[in-house]
Amino acid sequence: MIGLGTDLESATCSRAGCRQDALWRLDWRNPRIHTGERFKTWLACDQHVDFLRDFLAARDFPLTVAPLPGETDQA
Ligand SMILES: [Zn+2]
Repeated sequence: MIGLGTDLESATCSRAGCRQDALWRLDWRNPRIHTGERFKTWLACDQHVDFLRDFLAARDFPLTVAPLPGETDQA
């Protein structure tokens, strides 16, 4: 249940203007507008995972970061 309407296997980074393949997923929630178990998911390449994580962490949003499946398949 990702809710992005996109195939994670070929997903690209969620950072504006970035078209690199996503290697990470960030599941986060804004406690002020999201209730219960409703999370949003961003995808990030290696370069932007830190940027996006810091962006969310600076707002005190609950956040989990995990590698995308398939990452280890790459040579
Ligand atoms: Zn990126």
